[in-house]
Amino acid sequence: MNLDDPLQFLKGVGPERARRLERLGLATLRDLLWYPPKGYMDRSRVVPLDRLVPGAEQTALVRAGNGRLSGGRGRMPVFELPLRDETGEASAVWFGQAYLARTLTLGASLLVHGKVRLHAEPTGVGRRGRPGLQFQNPEYELLGSGDADETLQGGRIVPLYGLTQGITQKSLRVLVHAALEAIGDGLVDPLPREMRGRLLLPALIDAIRALHYPETNEQAELARRRLAYDELLALQLALGWVKRARAASTAAPPRRTEPNPRFRRDALVARFVEALPYRLTGGQERVWLEIRRDLDESTPMNRLLQGDVGSGKTVVAALACLAAIEGGQQAAYLAPTEILAEQQMQSLQRWFGPLGLKVGLLLGRTGTRERAELRSALQRAEIDVVVGTHALLEQEVEFARLGLVVVDEQHRFGVLQRARLRDKAGAPHCLVMSATPIPRSLAMTLYGDLDLSLLDEMPPGRRPPETRLVPPEKRRDMLRWMTARARRGERIYIVCPLVEESELIDLKAATEMAEELRGDPLFRGLEIGLLHGRMAGDEKQAVLGRFRSGGTTVLVSTTVIEVGVDVPEATIMVVEHPERFGLAQLHQLRGRVGRGGGDSFFFLALSARIGRESMERLRVLKREASGFAVAEADLRLRGPGEVLGTAQHGLPPFRIADLTRDMELLVRAQQEAARIQERDPALESPEHRPLRAWVHRLYASRMPLFEVG
Ligand code: ADP
Ligand code: MG
Repeated sequence: MNLDDPLQFLKGVGPERARRLERLGLATLRDLLWYPPKGYMDRSRVVPLDRLVPGAEQTALVRAGNGRLSGGRGRMPVFELPLRDETGEASAVWFGQAYLARTLTLGASLLVHGKVRLHAEPTGVGRRGRPGLQFQNPEYELLGSGDADETLQGGRIVPLYGLTQGITQKSLRVLVHAALEAIGDGLVDPLPREMRGRLLLPALIDAIRALHYPETNEQAELARRRLAYDELLALQLALGWVKRARAASTAAPPRRTEPNPRFRRDALVARFVEALPYRLTGGQERVWLEIRRDLDESTPMNRLLQGDVGSGKTVVAALACLAAIEGGQQAAYLAPTEILAEQQMQSLQRWFGPLGLKVGLLLGRTGTRERAELRSALQRAEIDVVVGTHALLEQEVEFARLGLVVVDEQHRFGVLQRARLRDKAGAPHCLVMSATPIPRSLAMTLYGDLDLSLLDEMPPGRRPPETRLVPPEKRRDMLRWMTARARRGERIYIVCPLVEESELIDLKAATEMAEELRGDPLFRGLEIGLLHGRMAGDEKQAVLGRFRSGGTTVLVSTTVIEVGVDVPEATIMVVEHPERFGLAQLHQLRGRVGRGGGDSFFFLALSARIGRESMERLRVLKREASGFAVAEADLRLRGPGEVLGTAQHGLPPFRIADLTRDMELLVRAQQEAARIQERDPALESPEHRPLRAWVHRLYASRMPLFEVG
């Protein structure tokens, strides 16, 4: 049989079962063999319930009590199950798996394995009103009569897989076994033997076997690492191809040898720097040099500028634009939202106007006539820089000579999406600016095709805002204190919870908050503004303008991104329900206050019912002032998908590799990929053929560019 054969080819898998397996993402033999267990259970280490300790992963052999299903109707179902053995009681809780109520019925005998926590709240199960020990989302195995003894005797380590309705641990173990039998020696190892030896990695077949049937925990981990390495190496090779393809292309249009007759070369940059009210920081100087060097090359620049919130990326982007214009080219500046596009346009106009340059603005709502004028002006090269949202690239905008694209992005784009973006615009130089720092491992996977510039220095005199976790009983004190400051002209943001399901609820929360504050005697005489996602663009602009000028001193706002603005007088931000935000998002918000120097404050308004885990996360913010440290912690606590946001994060198709754990493997893979590609760029030699097939299988459909490679 073949790895890509459907699981239905295996004995005992009918259409019904195949459908269920598909829910676990298992369609082919390959899927099954590469399906990593969620954990392993050491049968010789079953813990009696009276010996359970909080905080660790443990396994228990128990009998189920009467479970209780709650939630539902749009809320996440929660299934709680009392557990009992001869020694004592505990409980287990599962989230989002309502079917368990039908599977784990009263009296059932089962093994549970997972992290045990102390939970303080009485849940109605276990001993009422007393704190108890609880397995949180444990893996489980339902045992038939007689199985229990056999299980305890086996003394082996067995895999525990993620399950779905109608699929048991036992059935998966049987299937994996059958799949291995069916494939037999038909597994081709993509790693050359020499590399395996050097890196002390097991052969593929041994790794797959040990992934499912390890003899020791160490063997299981080694197997996992080997398979993770395969994925990381494939990614690095793929990225290597993208880079090579880029290096082989020429920046279009090429830098004109005749500089734009309207300007003296270098004069623009020099005059701009001179006119700035401050000196560039050392960091800004350094990254600007790196960019400048790229711009002088004939291959297109593809650079990521990473810098913490407030480190001054905008000025650097402006310098890059000026350099392009000096070379007789045009620049496009893509902002993530309309508000930010307008803000950026104003900054650029303020800076570039005096230099005699023309700045244009193109938004989704730009009128037809205006748009036509703008288009023809761009075609005739009468506009030097155009600022806009991503719509800018989707529309039929033509440039006379587009030389540089600046993407001020919220790390929403993966490697592939970016490649498309470039295709659309020919091959201009490209500067991507990441709005918040992301951990190095993510940067290497998502931006592995880019060269990296790090802006790791803040403008002088900037003190990071003081972060405080404010419990509900301190809320009035906080409001009193901050309204006093608002009366002295300081500006305050109040950011309301982001309710993702519905913009309407979102709006309601913010509207109610604004109403509440308007009726609060503490706020008497203070003008309170309201900004939310359902407002029209010019309406938003007006509200923000009033806040900027000081007419409004308190601004209640919903959507995070709309707050991504630069108002130097803003010194205080309050975030309601901070637990609903990601840490990186909160850090990004924090960067909006204290931009004018002086004291600033970032208050996380806690609700009474906040959970322990949320508190743990929020404390990271209090502890860490640097966005890089915050991002690392966020990645550890929530995983890559969450950190990047679920929409279009462009993460590679990893099944085994784990970016929170495998940093060192990733570095290794990057080195090895470079080494291979130096000697055999197209992986054509016989010992690299299997590797080439492996990379192709994973990435060919995702990256059309590979046809080149
Ligand atoms: P970000 O990196 O978050 O995009 P901005 O470019 O918006 O940061 O800059 C943040 C603030 O720092 C702005 O108010 C800007 O005027 C100021 N700033 C930038 N560079 C310097 C500098 N070299 N010295 C002093 N202030 C600076
Ligand atoms: Mg910025």
